Amino acid sequence: MSEPARAPIPVFTTERQHAELAEALRAAAERVIASNSYILGSEGAAFESEFAEWLPARRVVGTANGAEAIQVALMACGVGPGDEVITAPNTSPYTVLGILAAGARAVLADIDPTTYTLDPAAIERALTARTRAIVPVHLYGHPADMQPVLDLARMRGLRVIEDACQAHGSQYRGRPAGALGDAGAFSFYPTKNLGALGDAGAVVTNDEGVALLAARLRNGGRENRDHHALAGLNSRLDEMQAALLRVKLPRLQAWNARRRALARRYGERLAGARLELPREAPGTTHVYHLFVVRCAQRDALRAFLAARGIGVGVHYPIPVHLHAGFRSLGYGPGAFPRAEQAAREVLSLPIFPELSLDEVDRVCDAIVEFEGGHA
Ligand SMILES: *Cc1c(COP(=O)(O)O)cnc(C)c1O
Repeated sequence: MSEPARAPIPVFTTERQHAELAEALRAAAERVIASNSYILGSEGAAFESEFAEWLPARRVVGTANGAEAIQVALMACGVGPGDEVITAPNTSPYTVLGILAAGARAVLADIDPTTYTLDPAAIERALTARTRAIVPVHLYGHPADMQPVLDLARMRGLRVIEDACQAHGSQYRGRPAGALGDAGAFSFYPTKNLGALGDAGAVVTNDEGVALLAARLRNGGRENRDHHALAGLNSRLDEMQAALLRVKLPRLQAWNARRRALARRYGERLAGARLELPREAPGTTHVYHLFVVRCAQRDALRAFLAARGIGVGVHYPIPVHLHAGFRSLGYGPGAFPRAEQAAREVLSLPIFPELSLDEVDRVCDAIVEFEGGHA
């Protein structure tokens, strides 16, 4: 199935995957419609145990989305009003929204410029007497350097809640991202490595107590039919999304392997290019949710590729602390120089399992052509 030479190349699309899975997705949807059970039924429970087995982790608690998975995970770990939670500035704004929704204060720390994940030394500098938790973000599918984070947390009595929303299947020293700390948050937003056909998320944990609390919190804090033991939130994973996710989960391993193969192809074809390629730190497995290169002339390269029908993205053009909506965090321009420089230079190239090697080659040819004209 070769593409016509000039067909546009999307940065991401569900179109090819959903064409392949159409029959299975339709069968799952029809099963849910016929069941007359739409919230907290057998599909959700089955997905929770299947995803737990896949990772592996002891417990999975479905939520309505990833941001609320972060909120529920923090609340289930006892983090709330009066507490400070440290995270990175170069993340999805939803990471910080999850922290704020739990009632905590978000404190930011700068990143390691090669992996784009939290710099352990910067975390130490951000600690105060009120620090209660750290939320490392496994950005782009590459795990944060967790051992120093876990050591620091143990020494200081802090909780560690991983933002694994981009890291389904990513490994750190042989263990799954999202199940390394007290709890992890996953998103199944349609663009993620495992994507629902709508909003969905999950809390992952090896701690039974955290799992029980999370399961109660996401269901309004209800302990039984009539009594709310806690003031929780409504953040349930619905049966339709769970059933659709169950169609995709058995394919996730192969999809991640395909993303890694595409990343290898980019690496081979761009080995001589001047732009900086993504790195995989020793002892980690990158699952390439995004294939992010770095280039001082990012905006010119972005325009050049877009003009040739090549879809590109920027994750993220504005660091969290420079959004008007996050002014109350209290940081100005220059507060996090490494994250701010990354925001000016990062560019996400097309990557998704159904992308062809020919399409990768076309993207690479265009980049080489760009560099030839910008020597
Ligand atoms: C997608 C994402 C989120 C939010 O997930 P939603 O399901 O959209 O709420 C949070 N953090 C990161 C790093 C993400 O990529």
